[in-house]
This record gives sequence, C-alpha cells and structure tokens, in this order.
Amino acid sequence: MPETRYIFVTGGVTSSLGKGILASSLAKLLQARGYSVTIQKLDPYINVDPGTLNPYEHGECYVTEDGAETDLDLGHYERFLNAPTSQANNVTTGRIYQSVISKERRGDYLGKTVQIIPHITDEIKRKIKFLGSKGKYNIVVTEIGGTVGDIESLPYIESVRQLKREMGHKAIVVHLTLVPFLAATGELKTKPTQHSVKALLETGVQPDVLVLRTEHEIDKPVREKVALFCNVDNDAVVQSINVPTIYEVPLKMQEEGLDVIVLKKLELEVKAKPELTAWNNFLKKLKSPKASIEIGLIGKYVELHDAYKSIAESLVHAGAENRCVVKIKWIHSENIHNRNVGECLSGLNGIIVAPGFGHRGMKGKIIAAQYARENNLPYLGICLGMQVAVIEFARNVLKLEGADSTEMNPKTQYPVIDLMENQKGISDYGGTMRLGAYDCTIVSKDSKVFNAYNKPYIQERHRHRYEFNNDYLKQFEKAGMKAAGINPDTDLVEIMEIPGHKWFVGVQFHPEYRSTVLNPHPLFVDFIKYSLEQ
Ligand code: GLN
Repeated sequence: MPETRYIFVTGGVTSSLGKGILASSLAKLLQARGYSVTIQKLDPYINVDPGTLNPYEHGECYVTEDGAETDLDLGHYERFLNAPTSQANNVTTGRIYQSVISKERRGDYLGKTVQIIPHITDEIKRKIKFLGSKGKYNIVVTEIGGTVGDIESLPYIESVRQLKREMGHKAIVVHLTLVPFLAATGELKTKPTQHSVKALLETGVQPDVLVLRTEHEIDKPVREKVALFCNVDNDAVVQSINVPTIYEVPLKMQEEGLDVIVLKKLELEVKAKPELTAWNNFLKKLKSPKASIEIGLIGKYVELHDAYKSIAESLVHAGAENRCVVKIKWIHSENIHNRNVGECLSGLNGIIVAPGFGHRGMKGKIIAAQYARENNLPYLGICLGMQVAVIEFARNVLKLEGADSTEMNPKTQYPVIDLMENQKGISDYGGTMRLGAYDCTIVSKDSKVFNAYNKPYIQERHRHRYEFNNDYLKQFEKAGMKAAGINPDTDLVEIMEIPGHKWFVGVQFHPEYRSTVLNPHPLFVDFIKYSLEQ
C-alpha cells in the first residue's frame, strides 16, 4: 500500500460554511475512485469530548460504535462513507492537553519545559498520523474545526504547517471560504477570501486548493483573480454552490473536478470515474417522491435543528426509501398540554419523541405518547422517548399513579425506569454512560421490529444511564406492552412495543446513529412505511 496521504480541510471567513459536508463529499469521491478513506475532526475546544456539552452549544452528540461521544460531523462522515468511525476520529484540545499533562505527570518529558511547540503540536500530529498508521487507509481527511484566525485553532494550524513541511506532496490543505454576493451592486466579492488566505499564510500555511461557497455561479475571471491573489493554481479554485440537499454536494464537487485536482496534488493515480451508482440511485429516489407526509419531532431543543441532526437525516433516508417527502414538524415538548395536544398532533402521520436528559419538557412528551397510543398514531420513541412511553403506560394503563423514572423523581413509588445497576456510585459525568454498540435479541418473530429488521440478532448504539425496570415487566406484558428486544448478556430491555397498536415502538438505543445513505435504517424505514398509511 502506498504511503498514506493527508488532506486538511480548513475554513475561513465564517463558521457554518459546511466544512463537514465538504470533507465528507471529497472523501466520498475518493472512496468512489477506489481509495480507502477515513475522516477525522479536530475540535479546538477544551472539553475532553462533547459528551458533557448542552446540545444548544454545538448540536447533537454523535456516538460511535466503540462508544466515543463525538461531534455531529462524524455522523455526516458515516452517512456519506457508509463506514464506522471511532474514538480516534474526533480529537479535542481538551483530549490533547489531557494526554500531554498525564505524560508530564509520569515524567515522560525528562525534566524539559513542556510547551505548545513542540509538545502540544507533537501530540496533535501523533493523533493525526495515528489513523494513517493503521495500514487501513490510503487517505486521511482531517477537518479542523473553527475558523482560521481563531486563537483556539492556532496549534492545529501550526501542526498542519509542520506536517506539510515533513511530508511534502503527501499532505495538502483544502481551504473553504465564502464569496458573498452584494445585491446592491450585483457583485460577488472575493476580498473576504483573500483575507482568510492571508490569515493562513501568516501562520506559514499555503493552501493548495480553494473551495468557494457561493449562492451564485462564479465565473472564470473571478476564479482566476482569486487564484492569482491567493497564489494557487487556476484549476485549484472551485466553487461550491447552494444545492437543495447536502447529498448532491459530492456530485457538484465532481463536476468541479475537485477529486481529480486533489489526487494530482497528492501524486496519486486518477483511476477510472468514481463509482457512484448506488449514490445516484438514492438521489433519484429522493428527487422523485410520490407522496408527502409530516412527522412530529418532539423534543426540548427543537429551536436548534442540529440538536437532532441524525434523526432528521434518518428521516430523509427513510423517506427516499419509501418514495415520499418527510416533512418535520418541530414541536417543543414544553408547549404540549392536555388541552392543546389534539391541535398540536392532529394531521400528523406519526410522531417521534426524541432523546433527552432531565425533567424539563417531560410532561409534554408523556401527553404526546398518550395521544399517540390512544389514537393509533405511529410512534417511535428513542431512548428517553421509549422511557416516556413506559412511564405513560404505567400511569394511564397500569394505573400506577406517579410512576416515573428515578432520573425525574428519585422518590417515586413506582420506579418503572431506574438507574442501571453499574451506574450506581458513578459521580463523573464525562464518558461514564452506557455507550456504544450492544447486542440485542429480538424476542418474537411476531413483532413490528422483527418485521422491520428481518433478523433475530441486531446491534445498536446506546447513550443512557437509566433503563426499564424488569420488576414491572410482567405487569406491562399482561396489559399489552411487550419487551420486543432484550440484551442477551444483561437482560436489559432494549425495545418496548405495543403489538395491538398500528406502530408503537420505543427503543432504548439510538437507531439514528446507524442510518446511512446506502443503508437507511430499517426501523425508520418501517416507521415511515406505516406513517404513510396513516
Ligand atoms: N436520560 C435518559 C437516560 O440517561 C435517556 C438518555 C437519552 O435519551 N439519550 O437513561
């Protein structure tokens, strides 16, 4: 295998230009040309991982198979590449400092002064090269979080400078910037791009490729001007124009020749055209819907759609699979009350009650679950959404008044959801939940979930501390809510289902982390199939 190549994706001018989508799209094209590729995200904040962050900060916390709590961009990487990522694919400044400081405490630095250069930058470089050292990847794409010029990202950019110096043509920088359109003069402006490249140059990094985000076509003279002022090749300035779906970006980047430019710069063979048949088939389905439905997504962070990124994307995948557009009605759980629940939910084809922590918004979620159960409205409860369905059933069907999760009410008389045994006594919040992939056995072939998965053994990813309390299982089953999936090693209930209902499934795991463009998740696909009939 030829030596691993490294592509760094940096961003300039503003945040939210879509570095994650660009990195994913470029990686997708390289993968489609026969290279093995992985994508890594370096986050310049001091949290050791985003697990302890409020979703309002950076959106959803994505969980990998090996149980890492990571940035939501890793979700894009997996959805585009259809390959799992791991702890090594997301590194924060907090993690870098944590390992440098523990080495210092061990005495590894032999009395030397520990400094940003070389010790922090060495650690960053080690984390970048680690993925390449596994002998698995031809190309590692590393996305640097934040915007060039931020104080926080300086050590990362410095590490990129050093790596480019060490590796020559085997490491390149793709810089994503914005070319705004001024309506008053009808012009596209390149000055912000020039300034952001200048900021990069001040740190000693010459970008190799520029990707210009734009709302209007950028013509040749403008591209050539950018190339001249920013000291890059004419053909290495490409545009990334707004498209209706992120899944079209790889095709747009292919039209611009981004993959070819990158391979040439890395001195890698430009093999035959990218093999994108399956990808194009997905896009075809996505763009030729035969129906349109609306799903209510009930959560307490709905103002920020990124807080539920993977769920929203899973619905896109499942919609395409069912040839329908899935519109999402974002419903704040604190706005649902007994008196308005009909108004909030009527007309919807199905509802999802989202994951979450803490008691804020619980009342509305429970009312929504009751409405779905009583009105035969398709219901998918994810993690807390399953726990909500259990609490609702206990209170209103089993008549266990005040039944609750001990997370919400530690003193409840009926703890139908309780802290897992091995969670007792844990005091640290970071990285201590039940995390990552676990096995689950589907109990009966005669269930909606078996029908959806079409197999008896599955593996899904988790992120929780509380769990269904098996002391109550008999009562639930007698009254019509069944444990449909069980962990074979621990007997923990992973799926609850009401067989008498049109489609009512609560899962303790997060199916949304496993839905990809090429493998839409079977539970979402089945949920949408039944919602379509609604
Ligand atoms: N707060 C619940 C628990 O810890 C649910 C977590 C979740 O929805 N991810 O068990």
